[in-house]
Amino acid sequence: MRYCSTRGGVQGWGFQQVLFSGYAPDGGMFMPEALPALSPDTLKLWTSMSYPELVLELCSLFIPHDVIPHDDLKDLLSQALYHFSVPGAVRLVRLEGGLCLLELFHGETLAFKDLAMRCTAHLLQYFLRKENRRAVVLVGTSGDTGGSAIRSVCGLQGLDVVVVFPRGRITSIQERQMTTSLEDNVHVFAADGSSDDIDVPLRRLFADQDLVKRHGLMSLNSVNWVRILVQLAHFLYAYLQLSGIEQVKGHVLPSLEVVVPTGGAGNIAAGCILKQMGVPLRLVAMVNRNDTVHRAVESGDFSMADSVKKTLASAIDIQDPYNMERVFWLLSGGDSALVKRLMEEFQDSHRTVLPGALHKKLSSVLSAGSVTDEGIVETMQKCWQDSRYLLCPHTAVAVWHHYHCPLRPGESRCCIATASPVKFQEAVHRAGLTLELPEGMQRLKKMRTRCAKLEEGMDWESQLRERIEHIRSVRERGELYYSA
Ligand SMILES: *Cc1c(COP(=O)(O)O)cnc(C)c1O
Repeated sequence: MRYCSTRGGVQGWGFQQVLFSGYAPDGGMFMPEALPALSPDTLKLWTSMSYPELVLELCSLFIPHDVIPHDDLKDLLSQALYHFSVPGAVRLVRLEGGLCLLELFHGETLAFKDLAMRCTAHLLQYFLRKENRRAVVLVGTSGDTGGSAIRSVCGLQGLDVVVVFPRGRITSIQERQMTTSLEDNVHVFAADGSSDDIDVPLRRLFADQDLVKRHGLMSLNSVNWVRILVQLAHFLYAYLQLSGIEQVKGHVLPSLEVVVPTGGAGNIAAGCILKQMGVPLRLVAMVNRNDTVHRAVESGDFSMADSVKKTLASAIDIQDPYNMERVFWLLSGGDSALVKRLMEEFQDSHRTVLPGALHKKLSSVLSAGSVTDEGIVETMQKCWQDSRYLLCPHTAVAVWHHYHCPLRPGESRCCIATASPVKFQEAVHRAGLTLELPEGMQRLKKMRTRCAKLEEGMDWESQLRERIEHIRSVRERGELYYSA
């Protein structure tokens, strides 16, 4: 199993190299050079597996056994997936009107990112321990990634984590989950801008190969292949549980529609990859008013608006769905010259037009829709009225599709529930509903906080570069960072 960049500049990298990377050195994203196929027989064999068992099976396909022996992999994944509040780490719920949700938010920070983040962090620790070295994780966040990266990494040896969040554009619980983490290896920055604004200096830092090599700089955003790899399991678990595959006799498999609230398109990329591996999925990418993906699917116009729109589903307030690069690469049959041209144009001018063949392929694999804040609120209200179930605003973006596009007889569908409503009080209030804060979340309000600021007009890139350099010199002296 070897990995290449979607832009063609890198080939033949091993798993460990890719795990410790962010963007590929040519600015592209890592993908497996070839995807393994899952046969109908294999899928039928796996129907009774739990989510953690499926994560292990999938990781075994992509991580060679001479890189991590199977028993080691099994141990580290079971440690990673242990700290969840429901058995099996995820839960399926069936509500009124045939609505079926896959709840992925039973980790410490109450969003789906904990699942893949903890697995990735434990994989990192495995190699860092073995080789007795250090790495610096640099992540930008639209709200949930930062907290999840911090909680997944903070107890681990050999890692520092630098997180940049968009000040005033995330919920107070999300902010507190980051700024109350006072561990010595946690560095939090509040930036005056959107999460897309934050991506710009981060991309530049990752493009500096010298900096990347000297500091072991790496990403835990869904830029990192391993996040996507673990997220394949969301779709596989939903498929095996809900498609009715276990009743099928021959080799023609039933399909399942999976509806996904979409921001950086990490989950959607995972769904497309699993579909390519032979799992018959119909994928629906639902967005809020930041609708780049929706327009790309509808008309082939892949372009960003001038600014990110603030919505109630703030974790998907993203105009640059960067994982679409992986989808384009996959659907174009690995045409890296095409992907390079498209993505460079998109990055430079914030606009490109997908070639006819690629657009046709995209719209056959994905459907898409876009939901306003009113749509989010109405969906949360309806779900509460019908089922006494409180949706988070992102999950509501997916469920809106369920309420507006009824299933045809014989079809099945799963909506991905990406976060707990607890984190999104404003949306809950706007829907006229109330929700008691769990004790752990109330406690956050009283805790001491720490964070540095990236103000408008400051050179964010050099501020972050300075911090990364400083971390290194402190660690070389074997000192604590926040000793003062
Ligand atoms: C990150 C996030 C998403 C979007 O995830 P992608 O896979 O990157 O599109 C959706 N919902 C919530 C709650 C999130 O935190």
